[in-house]
Amino acid sequence: RSGSNAGGGNGAVLLDKPTLPTISGEHAAASQYADRIERSNGASSSSCVRGLAVEMKGVHFGYSKDREVLKGLDLKIEPGQSCAIVGPSGSGKSTLLRLIMRLYDVTKGAVLLDGHDVRSLVQASLRSCVAVVPQDTVLFNSTIRENIAYGRPTASREEIEQAAQMAQLTSAIKRMPDGYDTVVGERGLKLSGGEKQRVAIARAFLRAPRLLIGDESTSALDTATERGIMASLKELAAGRTSIFVAHRLSTIKDCDKIVVMSGGVVVEQGTHEELLAGGQVYYDMWQTQAANDERLASLCPCPING
Ligand code: ATP
Repeated sequence: RSGSNAGGGNGAVLLDKPTLPTISGEHAAASQYADRIERSNGASSSSCVRGLAVEMKGVHFGYSKDREVLKGLDLKIEPGQSCAIVGPSGSGKSTLLRLIMRLYDVTKGAVLLDGHDVRSLVQASLRSCVAVVPQDTVLFNSTIRENIAYGRPTASREEIEQAAQMAQLTSAIKRMPDGYDTVVGERGLKLSGGEKQRVAIARAFLRAPRLLIGDESTSALDTATERGIMASLKELAAGRTSIFVAHRLSTIKDCDKIVVMSGGVVVEQGTHEELLAGGQVYYDMWQTQAANDERLASLCPCPING
């Protein structure tokens, strides 16, 4: 069904399986897509990675026709900007990401990438410009090397090992009995949650996307692991456009733009400092998390919250 809009206008349209994109020939498709966009912008073709411009204009969407989840959402992210999406559970953060990846189509309004409506783009080409670090990374019952290479099956040994290094996975791999040739097990059960996320980051490094999307796991990683993963993601995001859905505000406070969602719309946006100074929703969220962190730290004498 990929590439066609199966929509009849009745409720949500699932355009493709919400799994990792098809990756065969992705690099050829990626460069064709980049070329097409660059040519249509009148810019010269260039081999360097450039971030995608992302815009959502008056977006309405619901998974069923009787319940709207996004209710006229406007959002603009400049090429190369890092943007964090925060807000209460159920406010539509993950849904927004799914619409950018065109897993579903908007009911009204438009999602634009470099000024092009995503509905006018070839699905495979769109996906090839975007890498996703999902909440739960799917691993295959094969070696860690093959699992990383899923990001780009044609990658060389050196490229795979470099991606692992960028994702700070090498020390974990060295501890494995057969190094890169260790079979990671059904559903990656032999890897910790943090390590699995690092595999997703390594895959994304191999894909060299123009847009990086991260959906922070709600499952608890310890603070040090979480910070380490965010540091790797930031390195990966450099020079690209990035959008992260985040639950812990401390991990995203350096983003160029923080967007606060509530009830399916954007209620506030700005930098961390601007939003704190605004004293509204983000300020309240920040105060609540700070108080919770303090309470946890006082309950637990061990340095997990450092
Ligand atoms: P959280 O912070 O808990 O992950 P969120 O802000 O990302 O939440 P979404 O996952 O986008 O919120 O969900 C927004 C609303 O859409 C919720 O009410 C949710 O129950 C509903 N929803 C999400 N996915 C689906 C789906 N596949 N089918 C039907 N309803 C869905």
